[in-house]
Amino acid sequence: PLVLGIETSCDETGVGIVRGRELLANVIASSMDEHARYGGVVPEVAARAHLEALRPTLEAALAEAGVGVHDLDAIAVTAGPGLAGALMVGVGAAKALAIALDLPLYGVNHLVGHVGADLLRADGGDLELPTVALLVSGGHTSLLLVRDLTSDVELLGETIDDAAGEAFDKVARLLGLPYPGGPRIDAAAADGDPEAIRFPRGLTHAKDLAKHRYDFSFSGLKTAVARHVEQAGETLDVADVAAGFRESVADVLTAKAIAACRDFGVPRLLLGGGVVANARVRELATQRAEAAGIALRIPPLALCTDNGAMIAALGARLVAEGHPPSAEFGADSTLPVTIVQT
Ligand code: ATP
Ligand code: MG
Ligand code: FE
Repeated sequence: PLVLGIETSCDETGVGIVRGRELLANVIASSMDEHARYGGVVPEVAARAHLEALRPTLEAALAEAGVGVHDLDAIAVTAGPGLAGALMVGVGAAKALAIALDLPLYGVNHLVGHVGADLLRADGGDLELPTVALLVSGGHTSLLLVRDLTSDVELLGETIDDAAGEAFDKVARLLGLPYPGGPRIDAAAADGDPEAIRFPRGLTHAKDLAKHRYDFSFSGLKTAVARHVEQAGETLDVADVAAGFRESVADVLTAKAIAACRDFGVPRLLLGGGVVANARVRELATQRAEAAGIALRIPPLALCTDNGAMIAALGARLVAEGHPPSAEFGADSTLPVTIVQT
């Protein structure tokens, strides 16, 4: 089926078009620059930006795919989780389009969409299941066990405070680096010694593991960096702090993901979310997966960050499996990952 996907859960306005598992278009407009002076995504600003960007993004996607709206078989839209106002813009637009074009509409889960991105990989092989999925972005840090993309997604753990990307952004601020902090810290860390400063690893001690084996925590790490910056004063070595911080995040993310693969006997790990761009996260994930005999899958970065194509791909899978369209639904900012379709 030819499916249009609309994604507006955070600061990317994404419109994608797929035919089954074939990627035809993936157009993204980001309001990231508008959030830079606030040091993080401002919900009101994001919602307004979606409203302005949605129509041109839709038109660009149709042009890129070389199709017209009347060729479409279905529409899929991110129903949650995400920023309520931002989600509402996408859901409202999708409903209007579906009514005007008399098309079936599928409200889908953003996090499961990140897993669905793997359907679009170039080699054409199908998603191999079950798989563990680690999704790390500015708003999420979640470890999933996916047994079936449309009917069996389990949340193993998630952050109990800041998301990993959020931690990168906050620590960058402490170091005087501009937003978004992830790429800046990644670059600064390349010149630093990851061993020079040993920062804490959140929720990795025996007493934490009993209850939070697959959960993450980055606020203690952020506080440790803040304390270090304060004490270092003039002698602050930004590269060493960036490297030590990055090492802590990459260590915990990959250790917990690999542990989940081992515990559940699942020899596959899929990564998603903007933090996947991080050089050390990729490197450590690659090394540890190889050592553990786990097949690691990292979609191309344009499909790892928020985009409409992954939403279209998940929608196309729902259509292909014969799931009925979503009944009346709204934006659900806290939609649990177990609910693949609203
Ligand atoms: P959501 O959480 O809803 O998916 P988001 O906009 O926060 O939305 P993305 O756009 O996927 O998610 O990711 C943005 C985050 O990724 C930012 O926090 C950014 O700092 C981080 N990031 C980007 N590049 C890197 C990098 N090289 N290293 C670490 N973090 C990075
Ligand atoms: Mg974003
Ligand atoms: Fe996302």
